Amino acid sequence: MIDGIPTLEDLGDVAGKKVLVRTDFNVPMETTPDGTRRITDEFRVRAALPTIQWLTDRGATVVCASHLGRPKGKPEDKYSMAPVRDLLATLAPGVELLENLRFDAGEEGNDPAFVARLIDGVDIYVDDAFGAAHRSHASIVGPPRTLPSAMGRLLEREVDVLSNLRKNPRHPFVAVLGGSKISDKLGVVEALLETVDALVIGGAMCFTFLAAQGHPIGDSLFEPDQVDTCRRLLALGKEIHLPEDIVGLDAEGNYATYGRRLPAGAKGFDIGPGSAAAFSDIIMEARTVFWNGPMGMFEDERFAKGTRTVAQAMADTKAFTVVGGGDSAAALAQFGLEDEVDHVSTGGGASLELLELGDLPGLKALREAPNARV
Ligand code: ADP
Ligand code: MG
Repeated sequence: MIDGIPTLEDLGDVAGKKVLVRTDFNVPMETTPDGTRRITDEFRVRAALPTIQWLTDRGATVVCASHLGRPKGKPEDKYSMAPVRDLLATLAPGVELLENLRFDAGEEGNDPAFVARLIDGVDIYVDDAFGAAHRSHASIVGPPRTLPSAMGRLLEREVDVLSNLRKNPRHPFVAVLGGSKISDKLGVVEALLETVDALVIGGAMCFTFLAAQGHPIGDSLFEPDQVDTCRRLLALGKEIHLPEDIVGLDAEGNYATYGRRLPAGAKGFDIGPGSAAAFSDIIMEARTVFWNGPMGMFEDERFAKGTRTVAQAMADTKAFTVVGGGDSAAALAQFGLEDEVDHVSTGGGASLELLELGDLPGLKALREAPNARV
């Protein structure tokens, strides 16, 4: 048990049992010119293999279930699991994969009748889908209400790393936050301010904070309705580092470098070299670092330098390093540094919510499973 949640070892003898494994096979896909759908990154399917193999090695029959994309409660060819099923057949022969859970409105609606169909004939439930653990969907919270349950290896590692980060990080503990949507992340900013020694803010997120400090930010992305909250957070007197220089485009669309004040019409798209160097120093001197959200619009090579510098510092520092967030993980992979950090979380939203609230609906459900309560 970890945190009151059963692990695979707590399931007892699984031989001859039918096990439903909730996986996160929400893989990126592309459609080739001839119309076939192709998986562009197999990572999530391969990542589920340790759990699947642990079960099949011990004689269990494994049925996997996942969502893919955002179908609206009814079947749609472009969201069919067929390409994943073909891949799984080569990686784990004999393991079944159900059709996209979100083809049934009962999944997102957490419908008891859908849960009943899902677990019909199933003896054991294993949750290995951290990326969906913050959702109270049928396949996440339903099965553990009645079935003996456990978390799989991926979920176990996530809970281990992220709960530790929340409960007893080694200090100095630094959180580096960026990305675009500040309203999604202010809750975690507030929670992190309780435990971190320093908070570093870049990405589009920094402009709402800079605006709260009274700096003109030109036409940069910002959220006016969050300015008051940012002002309140800044007033808490905690160590918050904002960029001291910004690069972007001026009103004519030319590449430009600024300090903290952006003229009318200018758009900030990345932290400047001075800020990148300063943020890098902070990361190098930390003993624990959590990073979520790119420092700029890194998809455009002109505005990738800040994110690249932070990613390199994450790779070089002796600190224990954790990266959460789809785009931050993608940036890390783009720079070829994904193996240089200690943990890349498979769930962006889930990792932030676990840091913020200390628990997730999916974890709570496992903690209340029949075999966890005894
Ligand atoms: P994550 O997925 O890591 O949690 P987000 O989804 O919050 O990160 O944000 C990622 C997006 O933020 C990227 O697409 C990036 O281009 C964008 N972004 C970062 N900085 C800026 C900026 N200054 N202006 C516009 N977009 C930005
Ligand atoms: Mg994102």
